[in-house]
Amino acid sequence: MGRSAPPGRRDLARAKPPEGCDRFCCDEMLIRLGRWLRAAGYDTAIARRRGSDRALLEAARADRRVLITRDRKVLEIRDADASTLLLTGRGLKEWVAETTRDLAIDWLKAPFPRCLLCNRPLAAAPDEARALLPARVIDMAAQATWCPDCEKLYWPGSHVARMRRRLEAWQRQEFA
Ligand SMILES: [Zn+2]
Repeated sequence: MGRSAPPGRRDLARAKPPEGCDRFCCDEMLIRLGRWLRAAGYDTAIARRRGSDRALLEAARADRRVLITRDRKVLEIRDADASTLLLTGRGLKEWVAETTRDLAIDWLKAPFPRCLLCNRPLAAAPDEARALLPARVIDMAAQATWCPDCEKLYWPGSHVARMRRRLEAWQRQEFA
């Protein structure tokens, strides 16, 4: 008896958490993926600075988040595979394909409810924030939202439209 041997390389690549969890924590190498998960509507933390792998894993678990990481070493921690998704792809499109496959991501879950920068749910923009909208989009003022933390202003302009088209493509399993 005793501790089981660390899993081999092939096992590590397969390690993934059970489906159904919809709260995530991306490691600092996956900031772009984390922001896209926020854009789709998922509550997604992004680890800014790495402490130990164990501290990162425990923080994600304490917050009931699946840890999404590119760091194989995390999976050397006992039972880490139950709450960790290891990505092996190179670049955003491959990561998107992997998370879609292994976490059943719905890219149109509830688009644009959260601040892309800090994850806070957005609120209707107050008048003083709406006054800062560029003149060319002033007709969208009623639809403007903002982040109470960052004070970043969001409005449904061409940038959001482009992001939405990308989410729609990913939802159709088009990752090219
Ligand atoms: Zn924010």
